[in-house]
Amino acid sequence: MTLTEELIAAIRNIPDYPKPGIMFRDITTLLGNPRAFRRSVDELVHPFAGTKIEKVAGMEARGFIIGGAVAHQLSAGFVPIRKKGKLPHDTVRIAYSLEYGVDEMEMHRDAVQPGEKVILVDDLIATGGTAEGAVKLLKQMGAEIVAACFIIDLPALGGRKKLEALGVDVRTLVE
Ligand code: IMP
Repeated sequence: MTLTEELIAAIRNIPDYPKPGIMFRDITTLLGNPRAFRRSVDELVHPFAGTKIEKVAGMEARGFIIGGAVAHQLSAGFVPIRKKGKLPHDTVRIAYSLEYGVDEMEMHRDAVQPGEKVILVDDLIATGGTAEGAVKLLKQMGAEIVAACFIIDLPALGGRKKLEALGVDVRTLVE
């Protein structure tokens, strides 16, 4: 099986979740499939092998699972980006747009140092609002964003273009 075929077979599609008309791409089946999970992480890591990535930043919550595995493979540190109010120390916060409305995300102020090379990881990019918020937060703290990496891209929702307009190299495994 090609990587694309294997990933498509491993991702579960749930119609009308979380609301009618939405097709939810459920990656818990991919995470539970040893081969598909391994291959996804390997593919995400591959472009960065031998390069110096200091930190991997992952968005709550599925970005923690994938980003943690990617960070381990790259011998990088991990930076959690969380919904507001969840981190215990001094934070920087940014508002970001959701499909309907806005929310706020945070990271610890000392989680990245100016000039550190960082890759951003999440399971899926849709409108790109979540990733755009994370990119702005990381840039605000002086990080150099080497790339933003996702298993799934929903290209019709325009997220990739939104990040590319910010000068971010976007890498995805399956559309
Ligand atoms: P965006 O901000 O519109 O790009 O939405 C991306 C965020 O919402 C990511 O953190 C995803 O984990 C989550 N998300 C949106 N749609 C889906 C889906 O179909 N499956 C899994 N996660 C999703």
